[in-house]
Amino acid sequence: MARYTGPKCRYCRAEGTKLFLKGNRCLSGKCPLNSGKRTGLPGKDPRARSKKPTNYGLQLREKQKLKRTYAMLEKQFKLTFNEAARIPGKTGENLIQLLEQRLDNVVFRLHFASSRNQAAQFVNHGHIFVNGKRVDIPSYRVKVGDVISVSPRAQKMLIIKENLKEYTKSGVYQWLSLDVDAMKGTFLAVPRRSEVTELEKINEQLIVELYSR
Ligand code: SF4
Repeated sequence: MARYTGPKCRYCRAEGTKLFLKGNRCLSGKCPLNSGKRTGLPGKDPRARSKKPTNYGLQLREKQKLKRTYAMLEKQFKLTFNEAARIPGKTGENLIQLLEQRLDNVVFRLHFASSRNQAAQFVNHGHIFVNGKRVDIPSYRVKVGDVISVSPRAQKMLIIKENLKEYTKSGVYQWLSLDVDAMKGTFLAVPRRSEVTELEKINEQLIVELYSR
């Protein structure tokens, strides 16, 4: 599976917002966007004045934000968009629902991993089971009722135990249930757009307009 392996904070600087791509580090003082200093665009002087964005620029930035939040590359993201456009209803909302059903996203939401990138790595390495069977495809589409669990071998991994401590702080979204001791969660429902509060600032309509040009 091709994936971006370069510096992730660069993405946040390009978007001027935190995309939470590095797990717990994003909440710590080590996040460059927490320092209070002006960071500017990657490769540009922080004091450089930015131009007023064009319509296309706004649409492009919105697409990049969503794509990078879900740790995806362009080809994969566009394929998901095309699929969303074929489903009846609002394409932007369909897109977010399809993204939420990705196995790496669900593994992240269940706190088995501290970021979607780490979740994709766990899936690739065979640490995740769906309905008792190993699934090593991060883009695997989770269905309502599927049970996602950590493999018996990976249950001994300290990093997963540490990640699960986040559950006591923030719980899980209402479309998921989690049994922390068994390291097992269930995908109860496909979330409605309004329930995905992490994306409340994303205007998915701009992405639909971008791909419709
Ligand atoms: Fe973004 Fe996290 Fe890096 Fe902060 S630490 S800039 S939120 S990836």
